[in-house]
Amino acid sequence: MIKDGRFTLDGMENVVINIGKITTEEEIAEQEWEPMGPTPKPGILSLRNWDHRLLKDFPPFYAPICDMCCLCTYGKCDLTGDRKGACGIDIAAQQARMVLIACCIGTAAHAGHANHVLHELIKWRGRDHPIDLGPHIDVEAPIIRTVVGTIPKTLGDLEGILDYVNQQLVHALSSAHTGQEGSYIDFESKALHISMIDNLAKEVADIAQIAGFDFPKGDPDAALIEFGFGSVDRTKPIIVFIGHYPAVSVATIDYIEEHGLSDKMEVCGICCTAIETSRYSASAKVIGPLSMQLFFVRSGIADVIVLDEQCVRTDLLEEAQKVGAPLILTTDKICYNLPDVTNRDSDKVVEDLLNGAPGVLISDPHKAAKVITETALKMKPKRDALNHLPELEEVRELAEECIECGWCDRACPNSLPVKDAMIKAKEGDFKGLSDLFSPCMSCGRCESECKKDLPIVSMILKSAQEIAFGETYTMRAGRGPVLDTEIRKVGAPLVLGEIPGIVALVGCSNFPDGEVEVAKIAEEFARRNYIVVATGCSAMAMAMYRCEDGQTLYEKYPGTFDAGGIVNIGSCVANAHVIGAAIKVAAIFARLPLRGNFEEIADYILNKVGACGVAWGAMSQKAASIGTGTNRWGIPVVLGPHGSKYRRAYISNKELSEWELYDKRTGEVVEGEPAPEHLAYPAETMEEAIVLIAKLCIRPSDNSKGRQIKLSNYVDLYKKYMKTLPPDLHLFVRNERDIPITMKDEIMEYLEEAGWEPRKAIGDPTRLVPEEEV
Ligand code: SF4
Ligand code: SF4
Ligand code: SF4
Repeated sequence: MIKDGRFTLDGMENVVINIGKITTEEEIAEQEWEPMGPTPKPGILSLRNWDHRLLKDFPPFYAPICDMCCLCTYGKCDLTGDRKGACGIDIAAQQARMVLIACCIGTAAHAGHANHVLHELIKWRGRDHPIDLGPHIDVEAPIIRTVVGTIPKTLGDLEGILDYVNQQLVHALSSAHTGQEGSYIDFESKALHISMIDNLAKEVADIAQIAGFDFPKGDPDAALIEFGFGSVDRTKPIIVFIGHYPAVSVATIDYIEEHGLSDKMEVCGICCTAIETSRYSASAKVIGPLSMQLFFVRSGIADVIVLDEQCVRTDLLEEAQKVGAPLILTTDKICYNLPDVTNRDSDKVVEDLLNGAPGVLISDPHKAAKVITETALKMKPKRDALNHLPELEEVRELAEECIECGWCDRACPNSLPVKDAMIKAKEGDFKGLSDLFSPCMSCGRCESECKKDLPIVSMILKSAQEIAFGETYTMRAGRGPVLDTEIRKVGAPLVLGEIPGIVALVGCSNFPDGEVEVAKIAEEFARRNYIVVATGCSAMAMAMYRCEDGQTLYEKYPGTFDAGGIVNIGSCVANAHVIGAAIKVAAIFARLPLRGNFEEIADYILNKVGACGVAWGAMSQKAASIGTGTNRWGIPVVLGPHGSKYRRAYISNKELSEWELYDKRTGEVVEGEPAPEHLAYPAETMEEAIVLIAKLCIRPSDNSKGRQIKLSNYVDLYKKYMKTLPPDLHLFVRNERDIPITMKDEIMEYLEEAGWEPRKAIGDPTRLVPEEEV
């Protein structure tokens, strides 16, 4: 019956019918959870003003590693000096274009992973599979909320977000075509935009993984898992997974369990697939970061090698053949000209591999799981008799062939003294080679250059066998997002400075001096009550270090997101949760609306959340987009010395008087401070990085107590590593109340010499123009 313009249908009381559209009550609730902010699903132009504001304070500094362009057939063009390319582009825009291309590649890799994993999980669990991050997380998708303006409730809801990601990627990459953008500033804006989209894709990927694989939901006590070559039981058949996409390793663990083989096989991994697998099963062993790939394959321990995607050595087919291990490829990203046997009978595929087929491609994770397991079981006895590394006497004999030409030293990205180690090995002294094991990232460039074709990587590994195979470490499994309850506890002290900062160690393992430095950075800041978080290869590399008391960092420090914690968040895609934690400080502590409200949130983080990313071994294009995306949210990043090869930093050289901010309380322009001073900075040494990290955690919002704590750390670290007071200390002392009490006399004396004048602290600092001035 129709009454007053409304009618009821039995069983459809919860359905609202609009003309042309049916809206459920859930959708109405979704529409009303927060008013929509100004920039839902931003396009390239939507946040351009924010980028230009950032780039005004932190202008790009280019260090071209190549000043030619050969991207089109007009060229190649020489862009040195004032020259322009045939298309009109100059060197600055060309460098920025290359940065944009790198960020697009990195974003595509993460988005490819997200698309892959989401579509696979939808096949496994269905589109309606709920996203439930547990009782301690209400703000469950902070990047999605802020950028897209929605809250995903099911796996199916994530599909629309990836449509938006894919669309933005097309637009950003298209602007790198010949004859499009010509301004380096706008290339940078596009790089910042697409890198924010990278952060979004990573959040989609990890939320899908947590929901679909039931990974830990922010567990501060995530399991301590065994780590390193030494943790692998070599009496059992061994499967190693290398890459980033965990569907196949998860399916393999399930297959092994279903067939009662769990205690009969070893499943281990390298790079992020290792972390992901350990999030699924604590029995999975983590061998190490990507820098361990060639070492581990050369060791011959693996009976089957499985590759999925990203950061995998492209010559692993050749390397696997050298040790007689079949190679199984599992995604369209890596095909190596191997046959696609996804639709072939699994038993026949196993038979082929046992009969010497070098490898196959199987794109169905469940079919791959069966082939991987059955092949490993049957391959093990066939490979037992093989010896993969030279004996020590053979190492000596090989070293005798060395003609001491020094090409290995020149080729080594870390300038390691390979030639000297060879000279010692000729005499039967293997310490030189053994000492190379830790700083060597098994890249093999020395071997490629060696005039005598010496297997240098294998010689290093054999010489270091006691260290390599004798040690077992521990790593905390990746825990996933930071809990809302943790943010409630640390939000205020972080914004006021009383917890001096969040130090996020992220990215690859292209370390200048091995894993020890990233571990030392972590320990230095954890001891000082910073919150230390780690992801990806950095989280793995840190596990290979023992503190003075013999404990690993993960044994010694708690896994809680709190002062003094060392938190393994997870893999590369879990980096999204580090940015997510900063966003949640704004949402939970400051109660700022997130929905479609990027600028206000990024401004809050930049001015009030003392966080600093550290990509000490950043190597890949993914690391470029991770770092640049982090920058757009207002978080500075310190890179390692290889980071200058990204060719662009965001460095400020401004005088104190040039740092202008607004005080939201008064609406006035006020004198700011270089806090943070830079947005992306490649440090030359660990010592330089450590003092810089402490400085880059200073924020205008610090109260006096917070500023005292931050300055006491900055001064103490500067004295410890540089043996003097920081030369820019006067820039960070606003008034005498900021001076650490125990350092008062020394600092006051310094300030007087520097001609320091007190200034007012800013009540509510912002870089956004107050509304009345717009
Ligand atoms: S894109 Fe421009 S600078 Fe590059 S090769 Fe072509 S014309 Fe030369
Ligand atoms: S394999 Fe090791 S020693 Fe050889 S070039 Fe690479 S880092 Fe240097
Ligand atoms: S490149 Fe080969 S031959 Fe030359 S010094 Fe190095 S190890 Fe010896």
